[in-house]
Amino acid sequence: MADAIAEQIRVRGLVQGVGFRPLVWRLAQAYALRGCVGNDAEGVWIHACGSAAQLDRFVRALYREPPPLARIDAIERAPLAQLDFSVREFRIVDSRAGAVRTQVAADAATCADCLRDVFAAGGRRRHYAFTNCTHCGPRLSIVRAVPYDRANTSMAAFAQCDTCLAEYRDPADRRFHAQPNCCPHCGPQLWLELPQADAVRAAPLRAVQQRLRAGAIALIKGIGGFHLACDATNAAAVAALRARKRRPAKPFALLARDLQMVRRYCRADAAESALLTQRAAPIVLMARGGAALAAGIAPGQNGYGFMLPATPLHHLLMAELDVPLVLTSGNRSGEPQCIDNVSARALLGPVADAALMHDRDIVNRLDDSVVRVVAGRAQLLRRARGYAPESLPLAPGFAAAPPLLALGGELKSTFCLLKDGGAIVSQHIGDLHNMAASGAFEQSLTLYRRLFDHAPQLLVVDRHPLYRASTIGAALAACEGLPLETVQHHHAHIAACLADNGLPPDTAPVLGIALDGLGYGADGTLWGGEFLLADYIDSERLASLAPVPMPGGEQAVRQPWRMAFAWLYRLFGGDVATLCAESGEFGAYLGGRPLGLLARMIDNDFNCPQTSSCGRLFDSVAAVLGLCRESSFEGQAAMALESCASGAAPAAVGGGYPFALETGTALPRLQPDAMWRALLDDLQRGAAVEVIAARFHQGLAGGIGRMVDHLGDVCGARWCGRVALSGGVFQNALLSELVLHQLRRRGLEVLQHRRVPANDGGLSLGQAAVAAARAIKNRSG
Ligand SMILES: [Zn+2]
Ligand SMILES: [Zn+2]
Repeated sequence: MADAIAEQIRVRGLVQGVGFRPLVWRLAQAYALRGCVGNDAEGVWIHACGSAAQLDRFVRALYREPPPLARIDAIERAPLAQLDFSVREFRIVDSRAGAVRTQVAADAATCADCLRDVFAAGGRRRHYAFTNCTHCGPRLSIVRAVPYDRANTSMAAFAQCDTCLAEYRDPADRRFHAQPNCCPHCGPQLWLELPQADAVRAAPLRAVQQRLRAGAIALIKGIGGFHLACDATNAAAVAALRARKRRPAKPFALLARDLQMVRRYCRADAAESALLTQRAAPIVLMARGGAALAAGIAPGQNGYGFMLPATPLHHLLMAELDVPLVLTSGNRSGEPQCIDNVSARALLGPVADAALMHDRDIVNRLDDSVVRVVAGRAQLLRRARGYAPESLPLAPGFAAAPPLLALGGELKSTFCLLKDGGAIVSQHIGDLHNMAASGAFEQSLTLYRRLFDHAPQLLVVDRHPLYRASTIGAALAACEGLPLETVQHHHAHIAACLADNGLPPDTAPVLGIALDGLGYGADGTLWGGEFLLADYIDSERLASLAPVPMPGGEQAVRQPWRMAFAWLYRLFGGDVATLCAESGEFGAYLGGRPLGLLARMIDNDFNCPQTSSCGRLFDSVAAVLGLCRESSFEGQAAMALESCASGAAPAAVGGGYPFALETGTALPRLQPDAMWRALLDDLQRGAAVEVIAARFHQGLAGGIGRMVDHLGDVCGARWCGRVALSGGVFQNALLSELVLHQLRRRGLEVLQHRRVPANDGGLSLGQAAVAAARAIKNRSG
């Protein structure tokens, strides 16, 4: 071959443990190249020898058809003088021990080829629940250590049979180096456990299907945790599940066999259908449409959260069922999902009638991810199975930052490792004031640091001194002798939105609108309805929602009626009799409460912290309208209010309620007093609650628009004209769309969340981005 040249080709991105080397091998055969391919610390390297045209075609093919779980960030080519031209073939070279930079892919839903294997007549994996290949199956849920080899996963307990081993060793096979490769002869097994009875080992799937059809509640061990399941069309079964799980109101997630089954109950537009069928297989929140399921599935909600089967086990389970299943995490209220058979058995009897178990250990707990289409785009609400721990690429400027670790907030906690210009955000771990979740947080932190060989030079926490993550961070910093940086809660929210949108570390200040539950403010009060002029380095509070007292502090979070009383007490002064008379049916409800005591607490500023929280304002309106007066889960009142507003006929809504702009004070305030008066008038007139809820949403969005006009004038040239929306309140699709409309018609560019949640699940990314940008700025002087 006279015109043969040699090149070193470097592929960067998520290219290890995803079948990249066999793909290179196959393409090298196809283009008649000689040489070798291997993994090293920077990704995949290729030495290839052939004609220039063949090499070009080979590289184009790499870009065009990477393996399903791979992500190519860059392919770099350089001439190679030293290739041994006597090499006659193309070889896969083993990884050099210790040199490989770990990349752990996310767990991926069963691929089409494996699904065919599971249902094909006569195949050796027919009806086998643990079928997988290089393109699908478990990853993070089974890995204990690096490198990602079988010996370091919970598949180590299962030696491959000769047939599986042959597949595993053949570069031409779809299961080449598929670490969890197995078959019915050598892999994990299923069985069904029953209270006070012997386990069912023959046809356990058929046995659990029979029980589910008969209305039983079953525990099902999945890929990243246990679920509780029951027939979603059986009201008695759903009610029993709620009672036994002590979960009165929070919506249950649903599992459907296929898209067709989803469309019996939801409209599922093109974007939503695409999300349902993607390899992460998240729960997708969608509006109802068509037949109804049992009333207890999602009380007070106008939508359902559906997912499709993510594993062969779930495909097999659904194959013989003609109804969707409730599929909710297998735990007791407030605790993290069980992952081991022993703790799951503790639920057998008191909560479940049967448990479908298997003998593969779940190493890392992964909740189901939740996603919603907001204003035409997918937004993650909970990022876990199928997404974590894939690195989120940041703007190139972040590569100059030192490795650092950010520990997030208290609710919906995640942590974030920042390194080499990428952010690795952990899966959703849960609310850290629960001790078990706190333990899981520390375990995951240890695992991630090991998996990603991460040695932080800096730790970052929320400014709240009592957050569990803040104390863990302080202890870690002390123990490892590292500096500890704090970032204000809402600054972190806005920074998360900037990082999520790929803005560089030196980006110009945006107007950040952070609307959420409660965050510790720079002045020691509780913020949550904030307008900030913010870049990564700094943030300045420009305005907020008018603050009100929270009577009883934390108690007011669980009892939205208290927040409503605080607003009305402010409106009517001390005249509680008029307050009750003017607030319709809510007045009668309040009549039975200790209002004198509450009024004295407010007057004496006793256990009544001030808050500008927008989440608490939603709570108050929901309470007055009778949608939610006592809350059993976070966000319940706000979700009920959004659902209610979405049911209003647009023609009936007209305009929104007035929100005033108070600009005479040092800090401008969005002031809802006039909104409350208009709302109470509507109530007195007997207007439909849907219409009132919709007018509230409209009015708030309008008020935000006018506040942005005002602040834009105040900021002048300091503001770049961009607005960033963050905080849990922006999970509300209706409010998001109304605010977007307000801002876009003013010609403003609006940034919203996509890859990390707008809620506190995104905080760790924001904290990491702030600390990274500050470190870069300090270095450059
Ligand atoms: Zn597969
Ligand atoms: Zn086998």
